[in-house]
Amino acid sequence: MITRAPRGTQSSTTTGPRTTPLWQQALARAIKDPETLLQRLGLPSTSLPGAQAGHRLFRTRIPESYLARMRPGDPDDPLLRQAMPRNEETHELPGFVSDPVGDHDALAAPGVVHKYHGRALLLTTGACAIHCRYCFRREFDYAEHNPAQDDWEPALDYIAGHPELHEIILSGGDPLALSDVRLKRLAERLAAIPHLQRLRIHTRLPVVLPERVDDALLTWLGQGRLQHILVLHANHPREFAAPADAALRRLQAAGITLLNQAVLLAGVNDDVETLVELQEAGFRLGVLPYYLHQLDRTRGTAHFEVPDARAHALYQALHARLPGYLVPRLAREISGAPGKTLLAPFPGRE
Ligand code: SF4
Repeated sequence: MITRAPRGTQSSTTTGPRTTPLWQQALARAIKDPETLLQRLGLPSTSLPGAQAGHRLFRTRIPESYLARMRPGDPDDPLLRQAMPRNEETHELPGFVSDPVGDHDALAAPGVVHKYHGRALLLTTGACAIHCRYCFRREFDYAEHNPAQDDWEPALDYIAGHPELHEIILSGGDPLALSDVRLKRLAERLAAIPHLQRLRIHTRLPVVLPERVDDALLTWLGQGRLQHILVLHANHPREFAAPADAALRRLQAAGITLLNQAVLLAGVNDDVETLVELQEAGFRLGVLPYYLHQLDRTRGTAHFEVPDARAHALYQALHARLPGYLVPRLAREISGAPGKTLLAPFPGRE
């Protein structure tokens, strides 16, 4: 059952300062309240009541390294807009719902979302390094559907029993919020299922918390029978700036396939120059564009929506500016559809 209880209490397990990896220490230092956020960026306190209203629904979480890439004193900074709670999140609008992509209906086993042929999603954790205000799982009931909280067996049994599955997608929350010990163990269990070929990891951590890309992560990611693919979620070119650039270069040097999936967001990246630079900046670091998503119509996120007509116009302009391999596919996820629905330039299913 979906509840409207605020998320944000999940955190990585820590074992003490001497044994805690640096990235977990950085995660623990993340900003967790709107008042501190406004103070740190030199923004007026007039925004505080609205920010606190949004925070009550979905708690604030912003790592220091991400905050450092925001422009102080700019309330319209595109990185700040992605992470700062706002009063608009309390607005109830028709068509904006708690589970717009039908995750609950597609739950096939604890933590397994099986919508499409050949691949399935494994929800690994509810924890994230950042709480993106447009998140389509901001109300997801992780306590009920998170296999990481007990054991993987029911999910692994389901995957092993479906030989048509060739790819498992680790999702969340953010799967890289789990420890490397846990992830390595899970990757090994999945690699032992003979019909699987690929392990895809959807994550925002290398972008928002680059400390996460350390030797321990690179070691297990570079090993194993399965092909490992990282799908990053970056929406603005400044998210690829230092220190994220160094982290992505390390991933590329380790031979990991890097793709980027962005969401088209009003006030963040809904202009041609930003979209062009997003693809270019990613490619300089070895990241290929994958999808440009229309917003999932999640309750509290309407202020991020870009109308379809505007999205089409931006997309055509992007096509005119970039070589084909740098143009992501403009798509929308529709609940119950057998694949992402392509919106342009060749509408149809994928
Ligand atoms: S990292 Fe992903 S799952 Fe986590 S809040 Fe952001 S969009 Fe949602």
